[in-house]
Amino acid sequence: MYENKKVIIIGAGPAGLSCAYYLLKHSDIKPVILEESPYIGGIARTYNHNGNRMDLGGHRFFTKNDEVLEFWNEIFPIDSTITQYEKDENNKNFLKRKRYSRIYFNKKFFDYPITLKPATFLNMGLYNVLKSGFGYLYSKIFQREEKSLEDFYINRFGRPLYEMFFEQYTQKVWGLHPSKISPDWGKQRVKGISLTEVLKNAVFNILKKEHKVETSLIEEFLYPPKGPGQFYEELAEKIEKMGGIIYKSNCVYNFSVKNNRIISLKAKDENGNTYDYECDTVFSSMPVKDLILSVNEISDNKVINAAKNLCYRDFITIGLLVKKLKIKNNTKIKTIQNIVPDCWIYIQEKNVKIGRLQIFNNWSPYMVKDNINTVFLGLEYFCNEGDSLWNMSEKDFTDMAVNELCEIGIIDKENVIDSVEIKVKKAYPAYFGSYNQFDIMKKYLDGIENLYCIGRNGQHRYNNMDHSTLTGFEAARAYLNSSSKEKIWNVNTEEEYHEEIKNCHNKRI
Ligand SMILES: Cc1cc2nc3c(=O)[nH]c(=O)nc-3n(C[C@H](O)[C@H](O)[C@H](O)COP(=O)(O)OP(=O)(O)OC[C@H]3O[C@@H](n4cnc5c(N)ncnc54)[C@H](O)[C@@H]3O)c2cc1C
Repeated sequence: MYENKKVIIIGAGPAGLSCAYYLLKHSDIKPVILEESPYIGGIARTYNHNGNRMDLGGHRFFTKNDEVLEFWNEIFPIDSTITQYEKDENNKNFLKRKRYSRIYFNKKFFDYPITLKPATFLNMGLYNVLKSGFGYLYSKIFQREEKSLEDFYINRFGRPLYEMFFEQYTQKVWGLHPSKISPDWGKQRVKGISLTEVLKNAVFNILKKEHKVETSLIEEFLYPPKGPGQFYEELAEKIEKMGGIIYKSNCVYNFSVKNNRIISLKAKDENGNTYDYECDTVFSSMPVKDLILSVNEISDNKVINAAKNLCYRDFITIGLLVKKLKIKNNTKIKTIQNIVPDCWIYIQEKNVKIGRLQIFNNWSPYMVKDNINTVFLGLEYFCNEGDSLWNMSEKDFTDMAVNELCEIGIIDKENVIDSVEIKVKKAYPAYFGSYNQFDIMKKYLDGIENLYCIGRNGQHRYNNMDHSTLTGFEAARAYLNSSSKEKIWNVNTEEEYHEEIKNCHNKRI
């Protein structure tokens, strides 16, 4: 029934691929995926540099949605048997990994989220502990109206802890002071995490009672042996076997819209050759800003201006291969070479630009070519396209990054073996700029009958991979059933969906 429909999907990231897979599985549609980059997986791809693999920021697979979990399990069965110490090159199962990540501040490690352990108090010092305690009590008595992310944090942690752990880090991530950022970001990402929750955890841990566990506290996650890119490449292979078509290096840059329908679109490849695609239906995971500004018949200035002022945060990551780390494993967790056990470390040191540090050896043994004698790190920097960080040469940037890691005592320079730089545009859709006018843009986009907006930048929402996957499924369903698009927009908004989960230790991840 759908066989001759020209269905175009923009983007071969988690949202676009999931949408294609759903359509192929549930109808006779053979979608065409147009992907701007030469890669599969979008931001969730894995980059192979001389046999060492890195994500663009480590990507945990975790979800509270059964449909997504079943889908993941269908592509890569879940395997809990592999340990850090084994390698089986043919393994195409999800590994179950333990989440271990800490905060590095004043050259000391703190649990993330903060726990009330003797080590925390020792590392903070008596003065800071008392100051934080009083600050927290003050914030509980004098709750602030939550107009900004700063208010949000202070209400939950008190001013001293906010200044110690959130203020500068948030500024690094967003390039804006938290007082200038909407509290929405906190509500979506860290709601439920507060000093009260930390206290509850401490008490419940003592009493060993089951209790609600917040998303950010989930301690286990799934991970493909060779990174999330391996999963999405496998998915792309399945899509092609089922009859879907994927054109890489094809950037969509122009839409022809008539009578509230996209009639055709244009794409160009890396050599500048252009291609016209007639379309019956379009699923788009390209950024909302780029999409709106590529429509040639749009006349509503409000929509155009809102799109022009939509903001993003860009991202640079350096893959750094070193012989060894300078920081020592003072935990009881066993690791190869006895390196620190963290998958990633939040760098809260005040005099450096680095935001997070990934240790890919701890994500999966397959990520590092020689995981016995080398450590593969991912250094994460947040920036804006065109700013001074973005414009630095790869050599200068890498030198700066290495110097920073030496300065804060993570590595010694003489142990650096190899490096690679990767730049990611629009890694984070921002909740400032014209975000408060998003409804105008949404209304315009929804008014285009044969357009379905999916994914993270496709919906300008801070989606994780599972949310993006679900938007792909919901959009495919809305199209196949001729039903409303509202369910697609509702993903990652329902309170229970992204906030908390009962007894999540019993969940199948
Ligand atoms: C540092 C970092 C860490 C993260 N960690 C996690 C994590 O641990 N767990 C998790 O679940 N999620 C994580 N995420 C989020 C995850 O990366 C996203 O949820 C996911 O990649 C979104 O998938 P998507 O398909 O919606 O978008 P994308 O991955 O952005 O894919 C969109 C695709 O569209 C293509 N495209 C864009 N414009 C055009 C155009 N004009 N024409 C053709 N193609 C185009 C892009 O090249 C891209 O391939 C992280 C993100 C970042 C930045």
